[in-house]
Amino acid sequence: MIFIQDKKDCCGCSACTSICGKNAISLPLDEEGFQYPLVDLSLCVDCGLCEKVCPILNVEPEVPNPAQKGYLLQLVENEIRKQSTSGGAFTAIASWVIKQGGVVFGASMDVETFEVHHQSVDTVEGLGQFRISKYVQSHVDDSYNKVRDLLKAGRWVCFSGTPCQIEGLHHYLRKKKYDKLVLVDVVCYGIPSPGVFKDYMQWKQKEIGGKFKRVLFREKILSYNYTSFSVYNEDSRKDYHLGVEREQFMRSFFSNINVRPACYDCKFKKRYRVSDFTIWDCYDVKAFSKNFDEEGTNRVLVHTELGKQILSEIRPNVKLEQFNDLDYFIADEIAMVKSVPMGPKREQFFKDYQNMQIGDLMQKWFPTTMKVRLNSLLRMTAFRFGIYNDAKRIVKRLLGKN
Ligand SMILES: Cc1cc2nc3c(=O)[nH]c(=O)nc-3n(C[C@H](O)[C@H](O)[C@H](O)COP(=O)(O)OP(=O)(O)OC[C@H]3O[C@@H](n4cnc5c(N)ncnc54)[C@H](O)[C@@H]3O)c2cc1C
Ligand code: SF4
Ligand code: SF4
Ligand code: SF4
Repeated sequence: MIFIQDKKDCCGCSACTSICGKNAISLPLDEEGFQYPLVDLSLCVDCGLCEKVCPILNVEPEVPNPAQKGYLLQLVENEIRKQSTSGGAFTAIASWVIKQGGVVFGASMDVETFEVHHQSVDTVEGLGQFRISKYVQSHVDDSYNKVRDLLKAGRWVCFSGTPCQIEGLHHYLRKKKYDKLVLVDVVCYGIPSPGVFKDYMQWKQKEIGGKFKRVLFREKILSYNYTSFSVYNEDSRKDYHLGVEREQFMRSFFSNINVRPACYDCKFKKRYRVSDFTIWDCYDVKAFSKNFDEEGTNRVLVHTELGKQILSEIRPNVKLEQFNDLDYFIADEIAMVKSVPMGPKREQFFKDYQNMQIGDLMQKWFPTTMKVRLNSLLRMTAFRFGIYNDAKRIVKRLLGKN
């Protein structure tokens, strides 16, 4: 039976809870606001299935795949690309599955509770709720069971999520290769605490007033390279947009202080994966091709024959260019293969989280200092003068990130 001794040994994928036929495992939040499995011993019959499907106890070996291909991708439909985090690759793939009469699973934000849950849809319109990366861990709930039932009924299914969720599903399905299952994972930096996010948003809503109706972690208001954390209010005068360099929750995320312990030692960061597609950003698209604009591009790794077939069938809907030097293609995206380092003050941050009001916590840890304001002002100015992308590129190169 599952017993978590060290929190870094659980990514919260929920494969164990989903497989347990006795419903003996629940997933309560811990004091940091993350879900961990808890076994009810009175229900457990010690069958061992939960351990067999755990993707951390059964790490999937990385098998080099010489047939892997890499592409730059932009959705042709510009309005939907603008509503997508990067180039709209997810929508292109998911729409193909829906066209086959299939069902798509993705992460969706509930603005009543400020929780992110995996949901399923079977219409192209329904895909909108999955667009835009939510930088907070999604609850998988009973999605794996639904995926299995749909596959058994012969339906096409697309499941999108973080690499640990994809490997969790792969193990939950006992590695069975279903012909009609399409797996899409993202390159994943790490995933912040649902508990901290919920408290933060409830506090923000009280501070700002009105009622939040939409939260977008990365809206392309100014550009793809300079996105805003946006909150749309029922009273539009109270809408809230801040650059990610200034917004407190986003700053907490990028300071590596509030992500799940497993993310600091992630077992799923690799180039060769069990998914059909791995999709991620391409901020500096000009470093790869002169044929794409800078309004949002995906890099896509295709791992399987099914992936290649889908890509060839969605060609009319996407601008696509193959990139042959895959070492170069992935080199600047360190999050593909390497875990983030733990913020040195993480322990203190979460001690404070337990003892302080969330507003005071964020003011203490991420105050809006002169330095933060100045940084924000410089970015805005660079943007207004049309030199933001070039300046970003130069700073990145000076810091040796390219
Ligand atoms: C937590 C997280 C961290 C990421 N880190 C990086 C990174 O370090 N570098 C990089 O280049 N790209 C990263 N990405 C990927 C990038 O943000 C885009 O999601 C990706 O480029 C797909 O672009 P798109 O235009 O097709 O996305 P969209 O159309 O916006 O689709 C978003 C997709 O992400 C899924 N998703 C959104 N939020 C979550 C969530 N909380 N949990 C599980 N799945 C979710 C949705 O189900 C959907 O499939 C990350 C994504 C997430 C969710
Ligand atoms: S050992 Fe079997 S019954 Fe017990 S929690 Fe795990 S899956 Fe459930
Ligand atoms: S990693 Fe997934 S399967 Fe393993 S214990 Fe955690 S929630 Fe359960
Ligand atoms: S960094 Fe790894 S463990 Fe953390 S959410 Fe992403 S895939 Fe899962």
